[in-house]
Amino acid sequence: MWNAAERGSTLFRAPYNLPDTNMGAMRRPAVVIGAGIGGLTAAIRLARLGHRVTVVEQLDRPGGKMGEWRAAGFRFDTGPSVMTMRSVIERLFQDAGQRLEDYLELAPLHPITRYHWRDGVVLDALQDEEAMCAEIARVNPREVDGYRKFMRYAAELHRVVSRPFLYSRQPGWRDLIHLPLVDVLKIDALRTMHQAIQAHFRDPHLIQLFSRFATYNGSSPYLAPATLNVIAHVEMAQGAWYPRGGVYQIALALERLAREVGVEIRYRSRAQTIEVASGKVTGVVLEDGACLNARIVVANADVSDVYRHLLGSPLLAQRGQRRSGRLEPSCSGFVMLLGANRQTPRLAHHNIFFSDDYPAEFAAIFEQRIPPPDPTLYLCITSKTDPDHAPAGCENWFVLVNAPYLSPAYDWARNGDAYAAHLKEVMRGWGLDAGDALPVEKIYTPLHLQAMYGGNAGAIYGFSSNTRTAAFQRPNNRARDVRGLYFASGSAHPGGGVPLVILSGIAASVCVEEDVQAARI
Ligand SMILES: Cc1cc2nc3c(=O)[nH]c(=O)nc-3n(C[C@H](O)[C@H](O)[C@H](O)COP(=O)(O)OP(=O)(O)OC[C@H]3O[C@@H](n4cnc5c(N)ncnc54)[C@H](O)[C@@H]3O)c2cc1C
Repeated sequence: MWNAAERGSTLFRAPYNLPDTNMGAMRRPAVVIGAGIGGLTAAIRLARLGHRVTVVEQLDRPGGKMGEWRAAGFRFDTGPSVMTMRSVIERLFQDAGQRLEDYLELAPLHPITRYHWRDGVVLDALQDEEAMCAEIARVNPREVDGYRKFMRYAAELHRVVSRPFLYSRQPGWRDLIHLPLVDVLKIDALRTMHQAIQAHFRDPHLIQLFSRFATYNGSSPYLAPATLNVIAHVEMAQGAWYPRGGVYQIALALERLAREVGVEIRYRSRAQTIEVASGKVTGVVLEDGACLNARIVVANADVSDVYRHLLGSPLLAQRGQRRSGRLEPSCSGFVMLLGANRQTPRLAHHNIFFSDDYPAEFAAIFEQRIPPPDPTLYLCITSKTDPDHAPAGCENWFVLVNAPYLSPAYDWARNGDAYAAHLKEVMRGWGLDAGDALPVEKIYTPLHLQAMYGGNAGAIYGFSSNTRTAAFQRPNNRARDVRGLYFASGSAHPGGGVPLVILSGIAASVCVEEDVQAARI
């Protein structure tokens, strides 16, 4: 079922009507740099449009930040753990002539998340509105009305903003002129997320719960515009899913689909330079010296990496740097994978343990740029849904806390282990003890994330939305200064997070198609 925004989307419209057959003279050699979710999406779409597509990926597997780790009978997702906007990925498969159900089994989550506070309050977030109202009534009956109003407000936000900001190519200020004035006001960009939430709730638990959605694209609720309250609608009203077998199954499903539609994927192949002649891309040189001809290059690598390292032109690097340097990276993350030698029945598949002082936590991350001393903990246990992800009687604990993007303010190489020890202390304070009989443990600091995937200061969602203008300033899916170069990643429009990155891959393919039709490439 597509919602109204998707039906009216300029992204989904154009390629829908293109023929299945290849397009003869329109066929172009295309190279996609990176087999992350954005890169695989763009590759699938370009192959379906008839282009000869090669994906080069420096790692030995698909998925980029969506990874997997196995040890001693435990299996962990190492990146994303929550999947929303299910219809986006459904649509990608449908466009490629396939059914998502034949590739992935998506299980709805009940509860979506279990929230814990230090004063003993525990609240399950539930998709069903009546069930959620009953849950809120249990915590604070005076907030039920506020919740209903807030969800109507978030649904209205979704109606107004999803088409121009998500399901279309990048909006410009002029696009807003076409919206009815009453809708422009509903975009609610003048208040912060937190201010709008406070206007609906008094209970600090609920204010903190809904403020948390700012972190879904790596931002602060005290800085990001209230427009981002749309995320509450996306998760609470539309639901969240878990792909059976682990979130990494999404990467494997996209890899399989890409191969089926004719994409060639080369792992352990690092792109070194994007060749440009007379302002147009001509090919991609790999680290091993091989050169792939291309008239289309889609960079799934971070936009700042492309300008800094891949274009090999100081002038372009300077220009790109000037543009993206104005944007603030999203937050990063500190990940701890723990094999717990026990089961904890009070925990759900997704759990949040909130800090006592949320403003101080975000000030640490975005102002002081240090890891918060009292962080909000996110704990995901896929073995709650897939028991074979941990040995009998055990659980696989994925612990994530928000962390600042890399800066001289904090030295992760020196302090990473100490912060891991501190986190375990914080966890013990919550009664969370993984035990030590099974020494299965791995940590990823922002420094590790940067080294593994490249990118911008270890940011995990591209650029933050901490200003009112971020949606307009994010890099476009079509490079301004090089013909034939496109961007499909969390660092380009419409931003980070798995569904948005899929939309980024689709938007890049739509730009390619427009340029082919207009003989610009
Ligand atoms: C710990 C963590 C938790 C997260 N949680 C969630 C969540 O719950 N829900 C959600 O929706 N999102 C989540 N995210 C964010 C989400 O993972 C990303 O937004 C998304 O996966 C980014 O995809 P991408 O295609 O833009 O880029 P990436 O995943 O970064 O892929 C880029 C690929 O390009 C490759 N590459 C780069 N340079 C080169 C080169 N020169 N040559 C060849 N290959 C190259 C990289 O190796 C990589 O594979 C999380 C991320 C992390 C790290």
